[in-house]
Amino acid sequence: MGNCAIVGINWGDEGKGRMVDLLTGQYDVVVRYQGGGNAGHTVVNGHGKFALHLLPSGIFHENVVNVIGNGVALDPENLISEIESVSAKGVKIDSNNLKISDRASLLLPWHREQDALEEARLEDRKYGSTKQGIAPFYSDKYQKKTVLAGELFYPDELRENLSELMEWKNLTLTGVYGAEPFTAEQLEEWLENYAFKIRPYITDTGKLLREAQAAGKNILFEAQLGSLRDLDFGIYPFTTSSNTTAAFAPVGSGCPSARIDEIIGVVKAYSTCVGEGPFTCEWFGEEAEMLREAGGEYGAKTGRPRRVGPLDLVATRYGVKVQAATCIALTKLDVLSYMDTIPVCTHYLLGGEKTDEFPFPAALPGAKPVFEYLPGWKKDISNVRRFEDLPEEARDYVLFAESGIGCRIGYVSVGPERDSIIVR
Ligand code: GDP
Repeated sequence: MGNCAIVGINWGDEGKGRMVDLLTGQYDVVVRYQGGGNAGHTVVNGHGKFALHLLPSGIFHENVVNVIGNGVALDPENLISEIESVSAKGVKIDSNNLKISDRASLLLPWHREQDALEEARLEDRKYGSTKQGIAPFYSDKYQKKTVLAGELFYPDELRENLSELMEWKNLTLTGVYGAEPFTAEQLEEWLENYAFKIRPYITDTGKLLREAQAAGKNILFEAQLGSLRDLDFGIYPFTTSSNTTAAFAPVGSGCPSARIDEIIGVVKAYSTCVGEGPFTCEWFGEEAEMLREAGGEYGAKTGRPRRVGPLDLVATRYGVKVQAATCIALTKLDVLSYMDTIPVCTHYLLGGEKTDEFPFPAALPGAKPVFEYLPGWKKDISNVRRFEDLPEEARDYVLFAESGIGCRIGYVSVGPERDSIIVR
């Protein structure tokens, strides 16, 4: 079977968590390799409904080892509260099934505050941060101004390092933003209440993954957000601060030698986008409201209404190339069942010219969508489990999307539950 990455093709929220939850049973190890508590993977299964932020979605399967890799923005406070809330619903989480990389850098208590202060400073020019401290965290990581999870086993040196980092960060908090400085007492509270509590899970996950590879075990890499939010290939600066692409998985998971045999790109049957930035196919008014309601499009982390619009084949084609996807999972097809006709964006108009190519970020605000209109099926399809049992119009919609995207659609999801899936 080999290793697999499940990645987002668009702006995030494509339904990756639901696909990981579905497929995890076939893998021995599930790894989160980038991002942090800024996005949520929604999973609905026998245990209930969960919005996972840092925990890998394999946590619900017995006998699966879940790894939080070195590429993740590890926020001990968020992780401890997530472990507590998921455990409270009867899910077993212990040091056997959850492993945290000793090389993951810690998101420190001031990162969230700095994020919020910067968004407030930007006022109406803000990037739409979820204020989880992700951008300040990654900036500090690359400046070597944070600490590694493994340092929690060396408390004396850690306290010394943190105290120096706090002195440095306070210069920014007080000098740039006029905010209160962090104190040694606050830092100590954070260490005792959150950071030291993650120690039982910390280990050399690089070694664990190398051994799993050597033993012929299969690894599933779970990404956060999507291609268009990738720091290098997305709609910069309206991206996240990490690489959301499958190519980063071996590095961010701690196993650079890992080969990825299959890359499942998750695409929603229509478009959604949280936060700021150009969103070419955006709908407004009543038609946006209807789609948002039908799809329950409110952020898993923030509850913010998501921006919505029709399927964008230009952006999706680009997203597929960036991810090097080998197979597509098309989710939420059931949501479109209310529409009489369904628009699909096949091209953009840019400077009066029709184009197939996704534009450079600075040119993107000038792009206008060109739509084709497909007939709707106007039937509940949530109980369909075989492709041939879908109404003809729904099949045609999937085939039209497949040829426009240029990659095989191997899964069609028709509901949030684990088994609401058509495997082609
Ligand atoms: P992720 O971050 O990519 O995992 O995406 P989200 O957590 O935002 O998941 C998308 C939302 O759609 C969640 O509320 C899922 O439960 C839900 N969902 C996923 N697949 C389907 C589907 O095929 N149909 C419907 N109706 N809902 C789905």
